[in-house]
Amino acid sequence: MKVLDLRCAQDHRFEGWFASEEEAQSQISRDLVQCPVCGDHAVTRLPSAPRLNLSGATAPKGAAKPAQQTAQQAAPPATLQALYLKAVKQVLAQTEDVGDRFAEEARRMHYDEAPERGIRGSASPEEVQALAEEGIETFPLVVPDALKQTAH
Ligand SMILES: [Zn+2]
Repeated sequence: MKVLDLRCAQDHRFEGWFASEEEAQSQISRDLVQCPVCGDHAVTRLPSAPRLNLSGATAPKGAAKPAQQTAQQAAPPATLQALYLKAVKQVLAQTEDVGDRFAEEARRMHYDEAPERGIRGSASPEEVQALAEEGIETFPLVVPDALKQTAH
């Protein structure tokens, strides 16, 4: 298994998992690799992290194993970012953007004055607090800038 750090033309960084080095080259050159954030096929390889960290001081052999285990347990930030972006994209696709009317719409749905549906929008902390007191649950969602540009 070959794990490569990849980057699309929009500078999104993510990991690509390939069966081998040759497979990676082949898939990248045939535009089969897609950015999980924006779907871009113009993907380039980044130098892998271990190579960047070669500063002359190499860890003793005995210490290599625990380090590897730690690396596997903690997902790399790039992967988490990709997963998060994917989840946010899903929410964006399944909800209606009501903008500043979020609190108003949430309230109308709660009191059956508007059809029940998934909505998203902006609300002040006070509005969210007021909604919570009325038994209307909301959850905060931070939409990364990368998605704000593409989601309308
Ligand atoms: Zn991208």
